[in-house]
Amino acid sequence: FDDRKNSFGPNIEIDSEWTPFKAKIDTFMGQDTQWRAFPIVGGEKVATGQTHSVDSPYDHSQTAGQIDWADAATVTKAIDLAEAAFPAWSARPATERADCLDKVADLMEENYAELMALCHREAGKTIQDSIDEVREAVDFCRYYAQQARSHFANPTSYTDFLGQEKQAKLNGRGVFTCISPWNFPLAIFTGQVVAALVVGNTVVAKPAEQTSLIAFRAIEMLHQAGVPTDVLHLLPGDGATVGAPLTSDKRIAGLAFTGSTGTAQLINRTLAARGVAPVPVIAETGGQNAMLVDSTSLPEQVVRDAVRSAFASAGQRCSALRVLFVQADIADRVIPMIKGAMQEQTVGLPYLHSTDVGPVIDKKAQDMLLEHIERMTKESKLIAQAELPDFAKNGTFVAPTAFEISSIDQLTDEKFGPILHVVRYKARDLDKIIDTINNSGFGLTMGVHSRNETTCARIASRARVGNLYINRDQVGAVVGVQPFGGQGLSGTGPKAGGPHYLQRFAIEQDL
Ligand code: GLU
Repeated sequence: FDDRKNSFGPNIEIDSEWTPFKAKIDTFMGQDTQWRAFPIVGGEKVATGQTHSVDSPYDHSQTAGQIDWADAATVTKAIDLAEAAFPAWSARPATERADCLDKVADLMEENYAELMALCHREAGKTIQDSIDEVREAVDFCRYYAQQARSHFANPTSYTDFLGQEKQAKLNGRGVFTCISPWNFPLAIFTGQVVAALVVGNTVVAKPAEQTSLIAFRAIEMLHQAGVPTDVLHLLPGDGATVGAPLTSDKRIAGLAFTGSTGTAQLINRTLAARGVAPVPVIAETGGQNAMLVDSTSLPEQVVRDAVRSAFASAGQRCSALRVLFVQADIADRVIPMIKGAMQEQTVGLPYLHSTDVGPVIDKKAQDMLLEHIERMTKESKLIAQAELPDFAKNGTFVAPTAFEISSIDQLTDEKFGPILHVVRYKARDLDKIIDTINNSGFGLTMGVHSRNETTCARIASRARVGNLYINRDQVGAVVGVQPFGGQGLSGTGPKAGGPHYLQRFAIEQDL
């Protein structure tokens, strides 16, 4: 499938148009281009003196730029301004707010090359992932603009059972905190922020520490697109200085978060401890995602989809495949093919066409993954490990690795990187396996490979996951095509890029 063809965003293809476009990206790739970013509060760039260098994950001797982190006073000022700006912003017609989203989508398209270079240099994203990243950000803007025009511009009228006419309107709630991850530094950052804004909320946004430069550019574009500077504020920094006050302040009226399950739980506790009215939290968290493969599946297709689901983006997607269940009858055929496909995976510099797998985000991630590989090497059977190039030592690379394990119970938590676990199962145990996966508490994505309609239907009805993909890969949900989000430990819903998402940012008021 190529769902990207259905997206709202531009389809940058690597074809005859590509060479001049790539030349444009390359103008941002040299060390002489350095981005300089700050907290943005009330439209002002605040030099706090807490300046951090942003290293490129593929080569730590190179920097993408510098960012000042927000201090406590900057955070308080941002919330003060956002609170004061709420009445006027929420009173604006939803169509005007939606126009800002379309404008920012235009600006992102105009600045595609620069944003792609930032994806390479700050986040270590490959060419295809960088294309997809910018396109998804554009998609979120255009899709939520469209949704806002249809559902927020006019009151909804209905007649109750006594025949009385009623009218209700969806309005913003107040100051929304948006806390976003480094693995989709532009797309998820933008998606959260524009969803909150278009509904009529004002926003204080904290991007991930590792990827604040691209978030800074996104905020500049949002302001340029007409979002007033007192309505939207950027607060780069760490959890203690920025994340904590953005959850403990009594004025926060709602919060959107994508990141770890543990942080989502902490956020819930912190918000509750304020002792004020409960507020909505929209959390998208981790997964322990499985793919179930039965003996009717096509091995070539399984291998292609499993390898992409596990190793694309260096496995740094919450949707990524972690545990591949292969029916024992075909395991001896499929597993050697996985090994072969993994030996073909090229680990390399993210901005080269030859690269399949780029670096992981930082040293902390690399250490955690290497530790897991060391443990699994002792406790299970290595299937294959891709080769690392010589220059890998300059950055934070982890070789794609696959192990055969006896049960999913051998895994404790999500390992966010290019490590695949394979389990053989007997056909009669299928229901039990689905129950074990359900019992892990996570429920984000699941892949199914089967040519048997009954098996597909049985898995679909039993599995408790947000996104189920049949006979294809299980990463790369497209806005408006596959609304994305999980259940249980994987998140609260509603799904991002889906028709119910914006409503959660709103309050319903009778007229
Ligand atoms: N929406 C992304 C996908 O479908 C994953 C989002 C995430 O990793 O947070 O691959």
